[in-house]
Amino acid sequence: MKLVILGAPGAGKGTQAGLLADRLGIPTISTGNLLRAAMQQGTDLGKQVKEAMDAGKLVSDELIIQLVKERLGQEDCKDGYLLDGFPRTLAQAKALSGFAKIDGALSIEVSDSEIEHRMEGRRICSKCQATYHVEDNPPKVEGICDKCGGQLVIRKDDTHDVVENRLHIYHEETEPVKEYYRQEGLLLAVRGQKKLADTTQLVFDALGISL
Ligand SMILES: [Zn+2]
Repeated sequence: MKLVILGAPGAGKGTQAGLLADRLGIPTISTGNLLRAAMQQGTDLGKQVKEAMDAGKLVSDELIIQLVKERLGQEDCKDGYLLDGFPRTLAQAKALSGFAKIDGALSIEVSDSEIEHRMEGRRICSKCQATYHVEDNPPKVEGICDKCGGQLVIRKDDTHDVVENRLHIYHEETEPVKEYYRQEGLLLAVRGQKKLADTTQLVFDALGISL
């Protein structure tokens, strides 16, 4: 199965992608990992990625498309793969259609207010990295980790302004991609649930596979 996974930051996309990849025995290809690997291996593409990043520029669509194309041509992708973080733009989606036949684009839909609730209420232990939520999964003592007694802190990425900004960028970039797959008849939308296991059930049902 060749799948694209779409979902806002905090929607649980990475978690569901991991579960699906394990169940189907196929790799998850994430753009972040691809970029890191290319830089480490020092390939021609990797050097171009590094140059762009060192200059503080965004890596171009063209470069990312080239990296994904190469990766999907490798042996372990023969029976399928999950694409996480790609395509992020309409140009990338169209390019992908030129070299891969995608079976579906799974979109995990979570409302902005729910994402804000999830991320802004999140607290992380400064010692052991355990995660809590002030309402949904509170520690026994406010501000203190149950497991190790460490101080709970708010990550920089979880503040209101950062979350709002990331959601704004996500919608701007991803709506055209979703619309593209809708028109191609490939869009599978699943509503993200409060409980992770409930979302997983809906995802597997949408794809017609048993848990
Ligand atoms: Zn802790």
